[in-house]
Amino acid sequence: MRLLTFEHDGQRRIGARSGDSVVDISRADPSIPDDMPGFLDAGRPALDRAQKALEVGEPALSAAEVNVLAPISNPQKIICIGLNYADHAAESNMPIPSEPVVFAKYATAIAGPGEAIRLPTTSQKVDYEVELVAVIGRAGRNIPESDALDHVAGYTVGHDVSARDYQLEKPAGQWLLGKTFDTFAPIGPDLVTSDEVPAPHALGIRCILNGETVQASCTDQLIFKIQQLVAYLSHVFTLTPGDLIFTGTPSGVGMGRTPQRWLKPGDNVVCEIDAIGRLENPVV
Ligand code: ZN
Repeated sequence: MRLLTFEHDGQRRIGARSGDSVVDISRADPSIPDDMPGFLDAGRPALDRAQKALEVGEPALSAAEVNVLAPISNPQKIICIGLNYADHAAESNMPIPSEPVVFAKYATAIAGPGEAIRLPTTSQKVDYEVELVAVIGRAGRNIPESDALDHVAGYTVGHDVSARDYQLEKPAGQWLLGKTFDTFAPIGPDLVTSDEVPAPHALGIRCILNGETVQASCTDQLIFKIQQLVAYLSHVFTLTPGDLIFTGTPSGVGMGRTPQRWLKPGDNVVCEIDAIGRLENPVV
């Protein structure tokens, strides 16, 4: 299923895409929780009921008449992996990590499709990073790699917007601050369930800035695969439904270019992953 969170008649709801329409699954079956983490936490029975509502096909709205929001706006955790593509580590002048490099964003950074990325007045070096985002569906701690993908509900497209001057030029580096300004975590539009993504490590991934392709790679270039990340992280903390794992970005970011290229007001950024979706955000 291609799940989405949308607003209609002033209410936030969960839907599933069916061609050009959106089936309002929380209205079709009121037992389905109307927030995405709650829905994912309800597990297989809720997914089965949603699938049934999708097959019935009503109530349906045309995709054009719904306001699509970020699929998840209130995760317990937004976990990000740095330097997880070998070509990006090289352009950052960093060695290939021997263990995942982990940092985080706060939920206040989340933005939906079409929502503006707001450049902070205190940063002059804001950069783009397209990323595949794994969404946790089933809670777990100390998850073995062999079970890890069973804990992933699905995938969405993410944009790890990054203020490089905070991240790299402040004393000791301020990764957290540089990564978590408001609107620095656009995600969406759809959460594509895992059953529709049988090969998450074979997806073309691109970032297109003002019509020019600036990043183009494949998720087969990930140094640490999704199952390794889920296992590694869950040995430290409990993963819970709705947690987001930004899996890292390929080469081509503005920092690694000559001359360097920073986001400016009026830019338009499209992050695109095969079979997952296309996430577009203007910059103001
Ligand atoms: Zn990143």
